[in-house]
Amino acid sequence: MKVGRSKTRRSTQRPQGALRTIVSVYSACSALIVVSTVAALAQSPVKFDSNRAWGHLQQVVAIGPRPAGSPAIEQTRKYIREQLAAIGLKAVEQAWEDETPLGRVRLVNLIVTIPGASKDRIAITGHYDTKLFREFPFVGASDGGSSTAFLLEFARVLKARKNRLTYDLIFLDGEEAVVDWRGKDNTYGSRHYVEAAKRDGTLKSLKAMILVDMIADRDLGIRRDSNSTPWLTDIIWNTAAGMKLSNYFLPASTTVEDDHLPFLAAGVPSVDVIDLDYDAWHTRRDTLDSVSARSMQIVGDVLLAALPAIEQRLAAH
Ligand SMILES: [Zn+2]
Repeated sequence: MKVGRSKTRRSTQRPQGALRTIVSVYSACSALIVVSTVAALAQSPVKFDSNRAWGHLQQVVAIGPRPAGSPAIEQTRKYIREQLAAIGLKAVEQAWEDETPLGRVRLVNLIVTIPGASKDRIAITGHYDTKLFREFPFVGASDGGSSTAFLLEFARVLKARKNRLTYDLIFLDGEEAVVDWRGKDNTYGSRHYVEAAKRDGTLKSLKAMILVDMIADRDLGIRRDSNSTPWLTDIIWNTAAGMKLSNYFLPASTTVEDDHLPFLAAGVPSVDVIDLDYDAWHTRRDTLDSVSARSMQIVGDVLLAALPAIEQRLAAH
């Protein structure tokens, strides 16, 4: 646009005959510019689109509280399946029953595989259940909602990307404690996934795991997690620093218990990308007012930019 306008301005100062020539040259040039721009767009990697992610977030929050085993979480699964089907992806259900302090609950992980050049896999995971609160309606815009919305949009991006490794997007059920976060009353979905993968031998091809959780806080501040694998954490935080996003991917550390622990215990390099400094955490205020599309954009941009270095590292080892 800028190039075109300055050319037009210059051409008006020329005599008539020359002007016609210049205009026709300019037309040819602008046509070339249009063609080359279209070609560049076709080749440029697909970007994470937080507007799409925000649309997903609005839809899942509108479903209401989505605790494990509820009709609302079944409705959420339907939405996830439909959105994936719309972009040509199939979600495979991994369903089981688990004992909880409130009795037996049917849980379901949803797994989407996007084949890459290698059969070795990187899992991008997040939970889609919300914590059960009887005192108030807890819709979990950031806690449960943002990871769901993020994974849906990230699936679209990865499907359009040329992937060196195979990607599994895993929507984990039952991250939240049914009553209290102690003993086995938490991370039902990740524990089940890892146990099943150990049993059927598929865990061997899983080379890394990236977990996203509570990533839409308006006031985004993600600290490094000392439980996470250092090299994986370094790549992501260094990528963010290179993008001048260290105000959001903070150099400070904390220690987090989350769905990455079962993967780590099974020897899978794993990282938790989580904003724990969230005022609305586990309150009635974890609504759309407390979150922003921009925060999801930042996380999407950083993780996407970090993938080549992660793939490179895995290919070298
Ligand atoms: Zn939670």
